[in-house]
Amino acid sequence: MARITDLLAAGRTFSFEFFPPKTDAAQLSLGRTIAELEGLNPGFVSVTYGAGGSTRERTRDLVLWMRRETHISPMAHLTCVGHTRAEIDSILDAYRSGGIENILALGGDPPTDPADVRPSDYNYALDLVEHLRDSGGFSIGVAAHPEMHPRSANRADDRRFLADKLRVADFAITQFFFEAEHWQRLVDELAALGVNKPIIPGIMPVTNRGQVQRMAELSGAVFPAWLAKRLDGVDDPDEVRRIGVDAATELCADLLAAGAPGLHFYTLNRSTATREIYANLGLPVA
Ligand code: FAD
Repeated sequence: MARITDLLAAGRTFSFEFFPPKTDAAQLSLGRTIAELEGLNPGFVSVTYGAGGSTRERTRDLVLWMRRETHISPMAHLTCVGHTRAEIDSILDAYRSGGIENILALGGDPPTDPADVRPSDYNYALDLVEHLRDSGGFSIGVAAHPEMHPRSANRADDRRFLADKLRVADFAITQFFFEAEHWQRLVDELAALGVNKPIIPGIMPVTNRGQVQRMAELSGAVFPAWLAKRLDGVDDPDEVRRIGVDAATELCADLLAAGAPGLHFYTLNRSTATREIYANLGLPVA
């Protein structure tokens, strides 16, 4: 198993993100997706975590299963808001004893229902990054938002807090976006603050317009007019996916040409779009 810090030092990483399935059927389908994507030789894969601990066991079980049963290096996402330090320590102990070396340290979104608010020893992701660094042994990633986090008051604050986080962490993975200049501008703004850690762009191919537009709205990413225009009036799901894959391929090619240290694909637990983009880019397949 590999530490992502070492993989990035050795060259570009190509990686995939999954969420822990809720049902036996979804579990089987994800097993198929992982088998199909294993042939693309990803540097690592990551597994999301339900903010406040709602997928605590399912995330841990999937990450540990991948460590035991596949050749892929897994990274566990971990959100800290709504957790005590003791809870985080017990999660980290399970990962350490299972041989997991990579954690994506996140704030997580606070619950919208006051009834769901839980005691928290953390305010921001930086608190968790520092806790992980003090615990030792983990390669630590953080989230970055090229078009700003929706809760950030302004761009300067967003970049300042991100730079503080990245000075302690090892690398960042971005929220998805649709135009390479958002990544380039983020990298330049961090460099101006003296931070040059790898920023891996997150890629979300449009396979379902409504779903991706809703996710973009929530995450603060602009769904560009040129992409909306290409998709206008297209109802056939295969045609939507073809347009989405073409747009994502162009974005990936631009990012690689601009020197991105890797590409991280939000797979939504399916393999087709990612495999098509790989083929379009001529990336090596086992
Ligand atoms: P933070 O770094 O804490 O930032 C949150 C906000 O607080 C930002 O606006 C920041 O500017 C501001 N801030 C930071 N420090 C300070 C400070 N000292 N004072 C004032 N303001 C400050 N969510 C999940 O629930 N589960 C997941 O698995 C998950 N995976 C993700 C993976 C990626 C690659 C990305 C990009 C996001 C992911 N998210 C996930 C979403 C993420 O948890 C939310 O966007 C969350 O609202 C913020 O997380 P963060 O780590 O960026 O938080």
